[in-house]
Amino acid sequence: MTDLDLIAASAASPAGAAPHLTITVHGDPEPQGAISYSKHGRGYYSNDPTLKVWREAVRNAAMVRLGTHQHVPGLGEKKKSAGPCLVCDRKKKDHGLLTGALRAEFIVSLVRPKSVPVTRDPITRSSGDWDHHGRSIGDALTQASVMCDDSQIVDGRVAKYYAGSGRPLVLDRPGAVIRIWALDPQAVV
Ligand SMILES: [Zn+2]
Repeated sequence: MTDLDLIAASAASPAGAAPHLTITVHGDPEPQGAISYSKHGRGYYSNDPTLKVWREAVRNAAMVRLGTHQHVPGLGEKKKSAGPCLVCDRKKKDHGLLTGALRAEFIVSLVRPKSVPVTRDPITRSSGDWDHHGRSIGDALTQASVMCDDSQIVDGRVAKYYAGSGRPLVLDRPGAVIRIWALDPQAVV
């Protein structure tokens, strides 16, 4: 294989191809990771209220962009029921726009504290771990029925930078750019 062949092969691979879905979200990105425990032993995310706001922003942006809806369990069933959806009759495990293997890229644009110079990257603990940012977005996309489950993402990249840093795909104000490639041609939208 020559160098030119290699370049042609990489251009045809999902990494070089245009994404099947691009979703832009505005809001304050929150990582999903650190779990606290109530005195009754129930686990919850330490940043629960702000995490919920961020996941809702991602969920709504995805649903508006793609026309999907959240799984609605039958009357009297628990919120997390796996049964048929009242709207479309699909079960929770099949309730996704994309059903096959996916490659995902989440570029997160964080709020830059005024004390931090524009040239600095977000390496403070308060900016959250990159993989925890991936989790909160992945969960929100599953809730929005972009996919049936986060486990469909087999390949991916998560990056966190300050908004306005001028890096590729980084937004001027806080939020995220989500790009998804369907690796299975059968599952392409
Ligand atoms: Zn449904």
